Amino acid sequence: MITLAFTQMLYYLGISIEEYGGDDGLRLAARSRFPGLTDLRDSTVFYYVVLGLLLLLLLLGRRLVDARFGMVIRAARSNEARARAVGFSPYRYKLTAFALAGAGCGLAGALLDSILGATVQERRWCPRCEIATERRIHRCGTSTSLRGGLGAFDNDLVNLTSVLAGGVVTWALA
Ligand SMILES: [Zn+2]
Repeated sequence: MITLAFTQMLYYLGISIEEYGGDDGLRLAARSRFPGLTDLRDSTVFYYVVLGLLLLLLLLGRRLVDARFGMVIRAARSNEARARAVGFSPYRYKLTAFALAGAGCGLAGALLDSILGATVQERRWCPRCEIATERRIHRCGTSTSLRGGLGAFDNDLVNLTSVLAGGVVTWALA
């Protein structure tokens, strides 16, 4: 109960800070830039960064499966008691594998959220406050107009889609 209470306190603190967009959320004007490395505003560059990360993740996954780590995981899946009898701690290896799959899930979700947010997520505009918002009715009470993206694809749906896709990646990796 105390955890829920603190979560609600932090939630209301987060949506009350006007400098960071309040309940409209923090708007990023563009995709990330990494000076000296790359500029993700260019869709072609973004595509190749995502492709490179995917290939890197697949390569690391293959290396892990072929390494001792992967052999222990496979041994534990086959017969956990035998893996324990030869001196390995299957729990630690399984926990590490779960954490690695979670990291892959987070990366996949972040990349998908970025691409969906930049392409199909609805972008609305409040004519009274002259500010971009994600709400159909802005907090000033004015109806907002659709400026881009798909009308039904709001920020919550983009986040839900990204979380579910990340979960599928975790399921596939684990
Ligand atoms: Zn407004």
